[in-house]
Amino acid sequence: MIDSFKTQVKYESRELMIKRVNVNGFKIFPFKNKREFLDYIKSGHLDNILVALNAEKIIRPHQSLRKLVNCNIGYPDGVGAVYALRRKGIKADKIAGSEFWLDIIQEFNSDKTFYFVGSRKEVIEQTVDKLKEEFRGIKIAGFRDGYYEESEYPALLNDIQQKRPDIVFVALGSPKQEYVMKEMQERHKALYMGLGGSFDVYTRHVQRAPKFWIDNHLEWAYRLFKQPKRIFRQAHLLKFVYLLLMKRL
Ligand code: UDP
Repeated sequence: MIDSFKTQVKYESRELMIKRVNVNGFKIFPFKNKREFLDYIKSGHLDNILVALNAEKIIRPHQSLRKLVNCNIGYPDGVGAVYALRRKGIKADKIAGSEFWLDIIQEFNSDKTFYFVGSRKEVIEQTVDKLKEEFRGIKIAGFRDGYYEESEYPALLNDIQQKRPDIVFVALGSPKQEYVMKEMQERHKALYMGLGGSFDVYTRHVQRAPKFWIDNHLEWAYRLFKQPKRIFRQAHLLKFVYLLLMKRL
């Protein structure tokens, strides 16, 4: 049985009903497409954390990740999450966070400010330069790379609190970025989005899978092929597939 419940949303003059679907304790938003996701954010959720969910996160959740996701917005970023929703009779689009953050910038560029955290120094600097070219007039409140000492972390939180950006993108890998975003959110309310290696992709230090692999839902396999050491992280996928087939997720 689908463990879902209704979220009432004020959406201009009408109400948008979004049913979240429970997959292994994660309440996932099955957005039909990126437009619906953007509209949902705009309809009163500009102070949430957006968490990309894939098979790895769903099957091997880190402590308190479920709680964090269920208080915020978890969306299906991986094909595993999409299939798990489908097994429960819910059709959803796979929303690739590595593309969607640029849709968010496009949507909010005219009146919001942005802050960027994560990746290597060279990568974040190139990211900022490219964004300034691509989105003329973009208001960047601040940025920093993701390789800071523990002792530098309070200064990062203070900077965000002082500069008060509207939207903060954090690319530190999972689950570190989720916990960092939660601490940031406690200091300063904004829209936060975890991005993993998206700045590397944006600046072409890492290639996304060719279109064929993406279209055939094989991006995870391509990534494994390119970064074989991820096999240790992806071994649990077998368990995910087994539970999916047994309808036990
Ligand atoms: N990273 C970082 N600081 C760290 C560890 C990682 O900024 O202490 C960055 C790294 O440079 C890369 C991203 O975090 O850009 C992690 O990318 P990955 O694709 O591995 O993310 P995941 O699959 O874990 O979400």
